[in-house]
Amino acid sequence: MKELTKEQKDFLLSSIRDVPDFPKPGIIFKDVTTLLNNKKAFTLLMDHLEERYKNYDLDFIAGIESRGFIFGAALATRLGIGFVPVRKKGKLPYTTVSEKYALEYGFDEIEIHIDAFREIKDAKVLLIDDLIATGGTAEAAAKLIKKIHEDVVEACFIINLKFLKGEEKLKNLTKVYSVLEIG
Ligand code: AMP
Repeated sequence: MKELTKEQKDFLLSSIRDVPDFPKPGIIFKDVTTLLNNKKAFTLLMDHLEERYKNYDLDFIAGIESRGFIFGAALATRLGIGFVPVRKKGKLPYTTVSEKYALEYGFDEIEIHIDAFREIKDAKVLLIDDLIATGGTAEAAAKLIKKIHEDVVEACFIINLKFLKGEEKLKNLTKVYSVLEIG
């Protein structure tokens, strides 16, 4: 598997815009829209992800709402496999399975369709999101997929805010791969 060079990682990092104090004071929001509209950066990233996952023999990619949809769906078509959206509660129209998780204040809940993996037993699923911060969202998503007995082969993030130690929450659930690490 081909690793990205330091120059390539620095280029990808520089293509992501920092927006201070969004959505609230003290948060530096990592804005990946500036990576997506940069054809050199987006293509480099997708080439790398395709190269990494082409021999994983995956059945599905599950992407977390909403930026996980963009990277997940793009990768799924490159690998010639299906895509499953993991959505916030109340958005999916058919029967769902759900998982609650704690936020800084209160709870949130994510869902997938009960037949999202087309009744393939022990489907090999790659979970993907743009960023892992505290890890709560990805932990809930991995638990949700396991709840319906599918195999979460790996969780993939474009950016890992390492200082928040989010990947520790996934330790007992799946492996973690982050393209870029901050902190
Ligand atoms: P967490 O559950 O704390 O790991 O938060 C992860 C989710 O929140 C992901 O879907 C991210 O897209 C989003 N998120 C959290 N922090 C940031 C940030 N600093 N910049 C951009 N997105 C973020």
